[in-house]
Amino acid sequence: MMSGPNEEQLAFDSQHIWHPYSSMINPPAMFPVESASGVRIKLSDGRELIDGMASWWSVVHGYNHPRLNAAAKSQIDRMAHVMFGGLTHSPAIELSRKLVEMTPEPLQRVFIADSGSVSVEVALKMAIQYWHARGKPGKHRMLSILNGYHGDTFGAMSVCDPVNGMHELFSGVLSKQLFAPRPETPFGGEFDTADIAELERLLAEHQNELAALILEPVVQGAGGMRFYSPEWLRCARELCDRYEVLLIADEIATGFGRSGELFACNHAGINPDILCVGKALTGGYMTLAATLATADIAETISSGGAGCFMHGPTFMANPLACAVALESLNLLQEMDWRSQVKRLESGLKQGLEPAQELDSVADVRVLGAIGVIERHEPVKLPEVQPMFVERGVWVRPFGKLVYVMPPYIMSDEDLATLTGAMVDVIKALD
Ligand SMILES: *Cc1c(COP(=O)(O)O)cnc(C)c1O
Repeated sequence: MMSGPNEEQLAFDSQHIWHPYSSMINPPAMFPVESASGVRIKLSDGRELIDGMASWWSVVHGYNHPRLNAAAKSQIDRMAHVMFGGLTHSPAIELSRKLVEMTPEPLQRVFIADSGSVSVEVALKMAIQYWHARGKPGKHRMLSILNGYHGDTFGAMSVCDPVNGMHELFSGVLSKQLFAPRPETPFGGEFDTADIAELERLLAEHQNELAALILEPVVQGAGGMRFYSPEWLRCARELCDRYEVLLIADEIATGFGRSGELFACNHAGINPDILCVGKALTGGYMTLAATLATADIAETISSGGAGCFMHGPTFMANPLACAVALESLNLLQEMDWRSQVKRLESGLKQGLEPAQELDSVADVRVLGAIGVIERHEPVKLPEVQPMFVERGVWVRPFGKLVYVMPPYIMSDEDLATLTGAMVDVIKALD
């Protein structure tokens, strides 16, 4: 059995291993983890941290969950993997059945992908192949929204915010997409159609070259943690219909209850043509994502020149990941996720409220089980990361944003400790 990494292993890590968005000249210090259980991450030195990040939106049921462990163990004794070309299996079938049942009604066809970014690539390719099959190969560009985030692979990067996404590094390599201004009307704010006028102008002007509009419904995640008006989304859906452009909803972060509705599209009562899910899909156990499309899109693509959709990863529909995802969705349906998320929402509002008065704080906002403190100035990660750990919590800010999206099972008491530590750290930085 392995325990937490020792000194020698940590030295190897800093010499040889890339961590997300990190330097290999001046590698940041890593906190070695021994194990994790419930909402707690246990460090090698015995300290336990209350996890505010849910391992980037994914661990909704908590770590080391007996039901998810059992699903993985039972599947691994049957088969960990088998190729999906020409073969099929119950974990993929039952997971797809569940996804069709949970997502908006028109989404009836499921492509199971390896990660969120891959599911976005698949969505973009579906939109392009759809118009190709309809005899409009000129409709192959994408329209996206400023401040959006859709993943780190090339197609996904091309629709990320050009500044946050560092497009100048890859200029000449990335496809040139179109960008509409971000929605300014906040969630719950008074919507005025002026807020969406530029989106309409772009759709009208470029309809003959646009395959799809891709956006994160209601919650813009890694590109700024912004919550915008469902009315804006409703309008965007209407405009896509009017100008014959597909709508791709990227619910990789928001899916499965995080924003207070099962899917963020439900806030607006709209159906996308293509939907991406990931992150919480396996309850954070392993990587898995899916792209759902309408029957019309699937059938149109299949009637085109290629006769099929041109994608098929080696580890497509990995049975182990599908079995855990299916059990995670069962758990979600059995628990009263809506009340749990509501409970976390009020706890976050109450706990983060004191930050509102601090001079260094520009805004405090909460939606569903997402709590954000936006500062005027960016935080220095090497300075603040240990401050959170000293207070017994795991929070990983980026830029001006100090934010959390806890596992749904977090107790009120742990949530109060978590929000208290956030306010306390920001005060200490003042
Ligand atoms: C995280 C995320 C992705 C990318 O998913 P990966 O699994 O990291 O590839 C795409 N879109 C959104 C909205 C995300 O939050």
